[in-house]
Amino acid sequence: SLTIGIVGLPNVGKSTLFNALTKNDVLAANYPFATIEPNVGVVGVPDARLTKLAEIFSSQRILPATVDFVDIAGIVRGASEGEGLGNKFLANIRESDAICQVIRAFKDENVVHVDGKVSPKDDIETINTELILADLQTIEKVLPRLQKESRIKKDVAPKVAAVEAAQAILEEGNTLFSAGILQGSEKAELLHDLHLLTTKPFLYVFNVDEDELVDDDFKNEQRALVAPAEAIFLNAKLEQDLAELDEEDAMELLQSVGAQEPGLATLARVGFDTLGLQTYLTAGPKESRAWTIKKGATAPEAAGVIHTDFQKGFIKAEVISFADLVATGSVADARSAGKARMEGKEYVMQDGDVVEFRFNV
Ligand code: GDP
Repeated sequence: SLTIGIVGLPNVGKSTLFNALTKNDVLAANYPFATIEPNVGVVGVPDARLTKLAEIFSSQRILPATVDFVDIAGIVRGASEGEGLGNKFLANIRESDAICQVIRAFKDENVVHVDGKVSPKDDIETINTELILADLQTIEKVLPRLQKESRIKKDVAPKVAAVEAAQAILEEGNTLFSAGILQGSEKAELLHDLHLLTTKPFLYVFNVDEDELVDDDFKNEQRALVAPAEAIFLNAKLEQDLAELDEEDAMELLQSVGAQEPGLATLARVGFDTLGLQTYLTAGPKESRAWTIKKGATAPEAAGVIHTDFQKGFIKAEVISFADLVATGSVADARSAGKARMEGKEYVMQDGDVVEFRFNV
């Protein structure tokens, strides 16, 4: 499955956040025999629709979609120079599908900042500089060979142009992601085998003081720093406390700081979206469940997530939108109201589709 690597300078609250994440680990709750890796937190993506489906179908359990967060220790200035920890750090990032930067905004004189002062802007620059330098090194290693090759093989020219363009962006101090070279795009495809770090989607977690959680001016300033990446605001210590409370007490604590939902819930949802994922829903007496697919997946591809035989033998998908199902109250009523659609192989799955597949075995 796809993973999000958590990175950040020392002392910004990564471990605190990661502890809260692992306390929410859905593997532990739903798959008692799963192997739980120490540096991976598998977090459920909260989805109120599942609760509603479980009511309609009297489901015994609810299985949300999940996101895997990986704790990547050890960003240090000079990581790109490839010393010890630095190498391992870059290798771990290369294996992640998205990069989540934790940025310190909380002020606490008892917690030392590695650079002596709390400055989100400077910290973001420090981390991005390491990633940018690493990408520039990768490019400098392959570009001369590619340029030579393109003098003989004409079809290498577009790739050389893409690599040179990437180099120019990086030399100006910008990440490829922020310059709009997004994974999956044509330009990114030409760069694919270079495994550049800064084409990965970024998201930013600002670890803020409680009063900043509800300070819109402050939040908009930080958002501007990281756009087009998403910014999430949370207090890591508060998240750790929330993770230890039952639902009712957690809600009370949240309300006392003026927040709508736990920061981890927002993080899971935004992270899931940043990875380019979406869900479709199935429901029955056994379980109500969200299944993870890539945005743009077709009905047979979606069926394949449940079982490869479902994809091979795919005939049709019976699809009811969640809203129609709730409005009509049951599958039978949705059918008689003409709200159940039979979709074929070309159908592109939509968010909120409640699905039953028909297939040959
Ligand atoms: P890491 O080095 O990035 O993993 O940071 P830690 O999670 O170990 O946190 C470093 C120190 O900052 C610890 O003493 C934490 O208790 C403290 N800390 C973490 N998050 C917060 C926060 O939101 N507010 C305050 N005041 N302290 C925090």
